[in-house]
Amino acid sequence: MRHPEWIKVKSTGTHETRKVLRRYGVSTVCEEAKCPNQGACFSQGTATFLILGDRCTRNCSFCAVETADPLPPDPYEPERVADAVQELGLKYVVVTSVTRDDLPDGGAVQFANTINAVRNKINVINIEVLTPDFKGDQEALSTVLDAGPDVFNHNVETVPRLYSVVRPMADYRLSINTVKRARQLYPDIKTKSGLMLGLGEAESEVLAVMNDLREADCDFLTIGQYLRPRRVNIAVAEYIKPEVFEKYRARGLEMGFRAVASSPLTRSSMNASAMFAG
Ligand code: SF4
Repeated sequence: MRHPEWIKVKSTGTHETRKVLRRYGVSTVCEEAKCPNQGACFSQGTATFLILGDRCTRNCSFCAVETADPLPPDPYEPERVADAVQELGLKYVVVTSVTRDDLPDGGAVQFANTINAVRNKINVINIEVLTPDFKGDQEALSTVLDAGPDVFNHNVETVPRLYSVVRPMADYRLSINTVKRARQLYPDIKTKSGLMLGLGEAESEVLAVMNDLREADCDFLTIGQYLRPRRVNIAVAEYIKPEVFEKYRARGLEMGFRAVASSPLTRSSMNASAMFAG
């Protein structure tokens, strides 16, 4: 289906940001997931760092990241991310990863090492981590949270009925509980989650997910339109109108979310610092 007129993807362009990323040999989910906003974000000098390689052990049908046997974690990666963050002069950084079901801790120590490396290099900075579900391993979750991120983010991505086709190796209730557990373990941390629309979900299902996240005491919510990154990925079922996103944003605030970013081009880490600052 052709993109409707309200989906305007800005050119990615070659920004100084991309040169810095290449110089330090760090990956971003912006590029790996073919995010439509990378041009805008890179021109603002921000990016979402992708650690633990660019090969995932899972095969979500909406995702452009390659499913393949990953390489061992690179022990120098946390330092390189910290160097790139310092050179970009970031005041808010988002760190995410592919899912590493092949690692005993799911990659939790690499997250902790990256948080520590950034904090050791930059005095004043806020750090958001967007993590996998660590297969519900609480010790792994604690390893990440003990390192002291300011925001813990884990995306539920879609409604439970669609998990079998959209996130076949994930579990909806486990994802909700991952957000909930983070708050229970660290009451002062801000929690966040995100949804994609346009995969065939009904409005009542979206509201039910928002309600589940509020019951999990989730603070921040992002809602955006799914866009197919490659032909092999699942097709867009529907382009949701901007006014519908606005309705969800208003409902979310009524439900008690501290902040809701909801629009066709909203993505999990887009304007994350503004959302955190409130
Ligand atoms: S877990 Fe799914 S969404 Fe995340 S990187 Fe892997 S395939 Fe992509």
